[in-house]
Amino acid sequence: MDTFEHESIYFRTDKASGLKAIIAIHSTRLGPALGGCRMRPYASAEEALEDALRLSRGMTFKAAAADLPLGGGKAVIIGDPARDKTPALLHAFGRMVQELGGRYITAEDVGTTVADMEHIRAEAPLYVVGIAEADGGSGDPSPVTATGVLHAIDACLDFTTGKTSLAGKRIAIQGVGKVGMSLAELLFSRGADLVVCDVVPERARIAAKRFLAEVASPEEIFGVPADIFCPCSLGGALNDETIPQIRAPIVCGAANNQLLDEERHGWMLMERGIVYVPDYVANAGGLISVYREIEKSSVSDRLTQLRVIGIGRTVRTVLEMARAEGIPTHQAAHRLVSERLEKGIDIS
Ligand code: NAD
Repeated sequence: MDTFEHESIYFRTDKASGLKAIIAIHSTRLGPALGGCRMRPYASAEEALEDALRLSRGMTFKAAAADLPLGGGKAVIIGDPARDKTPALLHAFGRMVQELGGRYITAEDVGTTVADMEHIRAEAPLYVVGIAEADGGSGDPSPVTATGVLHAIDACLDFTTGKTSLAGKRIAIQGVGKVGMSLAELLFSRGADLVVCDVVPERARIAAKRFLAEVASPEEIFGVPADIFCPCSLGGALNDETIPQIRAPIVCGAANNQLLDEERHGWMLMERGIVYVPDYVANAGGLISVYREIEKSSVSDRLTQLRVIGIGRTVRTVLEMARAEGIPTHQAAHRLVSERLEKGIDIS
């Protein structure tokens, strides 16, 4: 990826705590760059940088797709969350965020939790969102993300079949973590038949028990005959190897950066006749949820609901544009957000 597409990239090491972190700011055109802090045992600094660049770009698009006055950024911490994550490391990361003076606002992501945000907030009180409800924050954004994905699924079903009923629809979910599990619950309550998988077998077993779901292995999930396939684990799930296996006409899930190679795999899905809902359109609910903490309006909860419902309308716009112009949905979504970025914020 072209690093010069990004406004700034910051690297930080803190020997005392073992922190090795990167903050990538893709754009502040529409507002402060907001994006979660991901912690993973990356094999190299290059791999971590690549993730930060990809994810921060996705956040710019996601904020624009959700029509929020926010830019795109992302932080990655190199390390094993189970072994290396300590209060000292999170404080050192918090100091890095504070030094940026509000150009970057952080939140939880894969490998970090709402509880971790408290440590970061101790150092950067104004620049952390997604904090616990008990502490006056908006709490875990995952259920709102799942609700947004549900609206995206409804819009997609309506567009492709003219109906939104999920009763008896077979839906395959890859990854039943925070979002995948919430989504499974919502889909189950609407009468869908679920097939789930997770690399942590216990999580799949929990979903199977709660939602009468079938369990597939992480390798089998792509080839499960289904009405909808929902990638809800990590990025890159849609690639040369997996796309030919997919046996669902719709792909719509929560994971960020689902297309390993955006152009190549966006086209590949279209050529296979699979309707792909661009990830940053479908999964904007989490961002919408945490935005409440910045907005601080008395009618924020209502506005949040309306914005999450709006995800369905944006999906519809993207699908209509893609059909009308004969282009893949990722290009249609890109066009839509580029127009919004070009226009900037309407402050009239
Ligand atoms: P999570 O870590 O709670 O869940 C991910 C789950 O996927 C875990 O249970 C993990 O064991 C499983 N998994 C990992 N690799 C897998 C594989 N190859 N096959 C099957 N399962 C696998 O994370 P989350 O918060 O639920 O987020 C899921 C995805 O959605 C991520 O890509 C995240 O960036 C994205 N996302 C999350 C939110 C949010 O509000 N949490 C918002 C927007 C986007």
